[in-house]
Amino acid sequence: MPALVRFLGTWIAALALLPFYAAAPVAAKPSQDFQSFIAGLWPQAKAAGVSRKTFDAAFAGVEPDYTIPDLDIPGRPKVDNAGQAEFTKTAADYLSKPYLEKLAVQGKQFLAEHKAALERIEGLTGVDRYTLVAIWGRETAYGTYHPPNDAIRMLATLAYVGKRKEKFQEELIAALVMLQQGVPRSDMKSSWAGAVGLTQAMPTEYLKFAIDGDGDGKIDIWRSVADALAFTAKQLEGKGWVRGARWGYEVVAPAHADCSLEGPPDARPISDWVKMGFKKAGGRPFTKAELASDAYLMMPAGAYGPAFLAAQNFRVIRLYNTSDLYALFVGNLGDRIRGEGEFVTPWKSFAQPKTKTVAGLQARLQQLGFPMDKVDGKIGSNTRKQIGLYEKANGLTIDCWPSDRVLAHADSQAAGR
Ligand code: CA
Repeated sequence: MPALVRFLGTWIAALALLPFYAAAPVAAKPSQDFQSFIAGLWPQAKAAGVSRKTFDAAFAGVEPDYTIPDLDIPGRPKVDNAGQAEFTKTAADYLSKPYLEKLAVQGKQFLAEHKAALERIEGLTGVDRYTLVAIWGRETAYGTYHPPNDAIRMLATLAYVGKRKEKFQEELIAALVMLQQGVPRSDMKSSWAGAVGLTQAMPTEYLKFAIDGDGDGKIDIWRSVADALAFTAKQLEGKGWVRGARWGYEVVAPAHADCSLEGPPDARPISDWVKMGFKKAGGRPFTKAELASDAYLMMPAGAYGPAFLAAQNFRVIRLYNTSDLYALFVGNLGDRIRGEGEFVTPWKSFAQPKTKTVAGLQARLQQLGFPMDKVDGKIGSNTRKQIGLYEKANGLTIDCWPSDRVLAHADSQAAGR
């Protein structure tokens, strides 16, 4: 057969396959590219002390997982809100009262069961037992949630085609070092973000902070609650935990204050907030030590829910998982495990604004001179604050919350320039 005919034949055969490829959900890169990417990691792994045997065993049969949300693959449809509960659920749903109450009841039992270990960990790190048990509850529902994915596969995919490749490559190398240290391959199970163990921590954190919490000579953050919580406590201590202090407080705002005061840049001593008319919700006044500490106003649902003064330990929990709702969940669950924590001001139910609306409004406000940290479609404290300042400047109802109403107003302002 002449070469040209052979070539055309191959080409026609390929064409016949096209509808199949067109129907595939993702424009995946060819597999050999992934394999050469993995092969290219060897020098870095070797320098970190990983043996060839560990390296080859770690990646045996591993293929990228293109179903991970929010990968950086050209032509792939955008996943709304990246699929993370912290950004897709409303505060009312995320801070579901029945769920918090259920976790609090179980948390109190675990508090008693692990009393000796928790006392030891508190003495060692200064991090209170309520917060530690709350993080365990939030992350894996006290070990009853078993993340289904292979952490090596997740981290390798994110290092290969994720939006933060360098960060995840570092995590992947750290995961290989964990295997080298003797962590069983079968324990490297994770959610899609690659976090492992009872408290769902990243491999680099494990290498920095994991310790033997129960004194059996081994570190096992998968089966030993004491090991997992000692590790979490060391992490929080390392991020600047203040011994003996609370994460923050629900407050009742005075009538003249509004949500545009929110956010870390407006942090001030709690005594100043009290002078401005803010009161601790639920009656008990602030103690002297509390009055002297710095806090910022946080209203995760804008005007549609409670207000909080977030102190240093709130910032620390937020470094564990960068979300106001996450840190608030952990703080509030810890309070409930103490026997407190009922929200005084209720969360109102409403539909979560679309990422498109939020991102559109962020871009518009940026253009109109209201500085945004990021145009990312996520409703962080600065986004809420800038919306509040915009509403204030334009005589609108101040609710510090993204909506089509404010977006339409901002669009017309921008068009009229
Ligand atoms: Ca141990």
